Order: sequence, then structure tokens, then C-alpha cells
Amino acid sequence: MQPNVFVIDHPVIQTKLTELREVSADHRKFRDLLNEIASLMVYEVTRDWPTQARQIRTPLEEMQGHSLARQVTLVPILRAGLGMAEGVLRLLPDARLGHLGVYRDEKTLEPVPYYQKLPPDIAETEVLLIDPMLATGGSGSAAVSFLKKAGVKNMRFVCLVAAPEGIANLHRQHPEVPLYCAAIDRQLNDKGYILPGLGDAGDRIFGT
Ligand code: URA
Repeated sequence: MQPNVFVIDHPVIQTKLTELREVSADHRKFRDLLNEIASLMVYEVTRDWPTQARQIRTPLEEMQGHSLARQVTLVPILRAGLGMAEGVLRLLPDARLGHLGVYRDEKTLEPVPYYQKLPPDIAETEVLLIDPMLATGGSGSAAVSFLKKAGVKNMRFVCLVAAPEGIANLHRQHPEVPLYCAAIDRQLNDKGYILPGLGDAGDRIFGT
């Protein structure tokens, strides 16, 4: 147990994650599974979001229901984060979508920002920052710093597989940002890939 780290080890998610990791999963299967897992993760990730009362009329009478108190913004870190966006949007169809392009220089492993487009009122919204792999934590930390500068107060980081090194790096810089993942893997290799991992998520999503 690490503070502010939540591993969603639901049996259905673990089954799908195992299928996804298999080298034999082609891009179509990989995409489908990734989006399914992302949808399932949303339940846990949003479990304690505030709601507000909403008066409605059923076919029989008036009643007080509830709806999410804040607007939602989904921010996939390009490009692999896009592979989870559709799955999250299935459950949160009113969410707006920002984009953050941060790639990892393969030699230095340092994050290099190259594209940002966010909703103008993102600061007031509930933000889910998504990226399937938290490897070195460099891109993730850079993305969180960027969103903080944009005034975001409520943000959660959602990934599929996290490396211990990535978690430590993210939480060294941003301890207050909750991290949700489906698995914490063993370690990084010398090229910055997660072991056992699932390979290059972007390549597997897009078939590149
Ligand atoms: N990014 C990936 O897509 N895979 C890894 O293992 C590490 C970073």
C-alpha cells in the first residue's frame, strides 16, 4: 500500500489486462481491450466524486436524484492516452477532451512537450489525465505540472500499468495527485520499457 496509489485489481480487469499483455493480441484486439478496461476503471476512479441534488420527474412522481457536481475533462497524453479515451467517454459522455502531447526522448528519456489544447475553463473541472503506461514518470509528471499551471485543482492520473520508478517519480513531484492503475509491474529495463509490461502501447494501439 502506497499513499495515493490505487491498484484496481478487479478480476474482470485482471483477465482483460492479461489478454492485452499477450504478444499475440493484434491492434484491433488491443484497442478493444484497452477501451474496455478504461471503461471499467472509471467506476473506481470516480467513486468519491461529489454529486449534487437534481430534482426530476419520473413517470410516477417527483423525486430528488443526483448528478456529478462538476464538469469533467479528459486529458489523454498523446499518443497512447488516446487509446483509453473512447472507453472513458463511454461512461462519461459529457466530458470534454483536452490533448497534451508529451513524448519521451528515447535517448535521454526526458519528456518533450510538443502540443497542448485544453478547454478554456479546465481549472474548474474534474480532470482525468490518462496514459496507459507510467514508465519513468517523466511525461506524466510534466503533464501534471502543465495542468497545475493551467489552474487545475482536481485531477487524477489514470494508467493501466505503472512501474515502481514511475510512481516514485510522479509522487516525488506531485504527491497529492491520486494515481489509479490496474497493475504495478516489476521494473523498467534500460530502454525505459516496463517489465513484464506490454511493449510499446502506442505502437500496439495504432498498429505502427
Ligand atoms: N511506454 C510504453 O508504451 N511502454 C512501456 O513499457 C514504457 C513506456
